Amino acid sequence: MPELVEVELYRRMAAPLVGATVSSVDVVDPRFIRGAGSAAAFAKAITGRALTGTDRIGKLLLMHTDGPTIGLRFGMTGVLGVDGDDGLDELVYGPSRRDPAWVRLRIVTTSGELFVRDPRILGSAILDPDTAALGPDATTITAGQLAAAVRGSRSPIKARLLDQHRVAGVGNLIADEVLWRASIAPQRPAGSLSAVEVRRLHRHVRSTVADLLDRGGSHLGRMTDQRKPGGCCPTDGTPLQRATVGGRTTWWCPAHQRQGARR
Ligand SMILES: [Zn+2]
Repeated sequence: MPELVEVELYRRMAAPLVGATVSSVDVVDPRFIRGAGSAAAFAKAITGRALTGTDRIGKLLLMHTDGPTIGLRFGMTGVLGVDGDDGLDELVYGPSRRDPAWVRLRIVTTSGELFVRDPRILGSAILDPDTAALGPDATTITAGQLAAAVRGSRSPIKARLLDQHRVAGVGNLIADEVLWRASIAPQRPAGSLSAVEVRRLHRHVRSTVADLLDRGGSHLGRMTDQRKPGGCCPTDGTPLQRATVGGRTTWWCPAHQRQGARR
């Protein structure tokens, strides 16, 4: 599913449309529109508006206009495209087929057309989304903010990282890669991490997200292609283990990802 990395790449694709004016909106599938008002009201509210900027908090893409802000969520299978090109060819989530019937929303502007394709319609578009409940974005989260997110929690550290109210943008693949790089077992109670481990985790959240952006996808981590039966830790060759942690399929290395703080 799209994580912070994919949504940031979508944002960069949409950014060249800033300065253009929305000439028409085609809500192909009204189920894609959330919040108050109908699909027709959504289209009316942004038609004729100028796009003034793009933004992203976690997995939420924001397109500001001189009227309402357009919020786009991509759920499990959503893809954003501009001018017929979705730009992301190697996604691990969603069907590789590009069925035109899966396009749910088209926004035509004076400098190009933006569309969202979403086979399962778990994504959505909403005007002026409420962002107050989102935690700090994983690209900019501070050490203090991460420490506050884990402090006192009995939840597995992985579940805490996946909780968008605590840290915005981390999904299943990023979480496994971060914890593998930080040498912390995913099922550890978050509150059991030592101060040293929390600082190490913070460094790896920031650096892993930056690295995956450079690599071009959440699925392009150093351990991701070993998340399969028979997969081994790329560092020490130990067979990876699988479990469900935080409701998600989780892979980790039992040799170097520590189950407890060093005494
Ligand atoms: Zn290992």
